[in-house]
Amino acid sequence: MKDFKSSNVLKLVCALVAVATLYGCAGTTGRATGIEKMYVLYCGEGSAPDKSRWTPGVKENENKPITLSNSCYLIKHAKGWMLWETGYAEALLGMMPKGFPTPVLHWVWKNPKTLTQQLADIGLTPAQVNFVGFSHAHPDHIGNGSLFSTATLYIQESEYNFYIDPKGKPPGPPANWQKLRENPTVKLKGDTDVFGDGSVTIITSTGHTPGHQSLLVKLPNSGAIMLTGDAVHFRDNWDTPRAPVQNFDKEASIKSVEKLRGIVAANNARVWINHDDAQTATLKMSPAYYD
Ligand SMILES: [Zn+2]
Repeated sequence: MKDFKSSNVLKLVCALVAVATLYGCAGTTGRATGIEKMYVLYCGEGSAPDKSRWTPGVKENENKPITLSNSCYLIKHAKGWMLWETGYAEALLGMMPKGFPTPVLHWVWKNPKTLTQQLADIGLTPAQVNFVGFSHAHPDHIGNGSLFSTATLYIQESEYNFYIDPKGKPPGPPANWQKLRENPTVKLKGDTDVFGDGSVTIITSTGHTPGHQSLLVKLPNSGAIMLTGDAVHFRDNWDTPRAPVQNFDKEASIKSVEKLRGIVAANNARVWINHDDAQTATLKMSPAYYD
């Protein structure tokens, strides 16, 4: 019996160490990692006539116009360049200066400054990006996926099967992502320490889509930053968790926000919300960067 208990205690200790390593708790002690810096790239913007689609139950947002920023994040790590989110398809939107009217939610998307040009401004071509991922496979996040066909793709298996797999449900226009099917792909089944040093951790935050994921980044000087993706669309929904009407699983959406809030608190992380236009306006944009 004694041996049985000891072995259980050992298992518990090992499990706690594994969790601490995965979420980078050790990183808060100043452990050296391979991450160097992160750029925030402009990946377009959208406007919609009714904010209440994202805030069910909030009367004052009914028929209130909203602008949604759209950012991509480029991380320099000793093991290579990683792009998180790819934005609206620049090839299509570049031809539509007045914007692309989407068939859903009455959004109008614009992308006057291309991702390719912003990479060039810091001396990179898409072929030099080694790793690519996105919070989910909606077209405002995977639009430029085909530009990075040599990068290793990190995606939850559930998201891949739902949207990307030929038998799945295509993620809709603008379509410039199909080549992703040919990328070297790591299909994930949960939270994942991308580089094995706690500096970049993919956190599952399912709900908005079946395999939605967020990214916890730990920079040497700027500290921990949670990139929420569309787990929330703006700060108000972080402070008071709500599931937008279009979410795949509303209950899971709320649980995921609670999960992210716990990880943010444990790591004293900043919260960066991709589509929060007011917050995005306060960030340093590429070619400036956070180190
Ligand atoms: Zn989005």
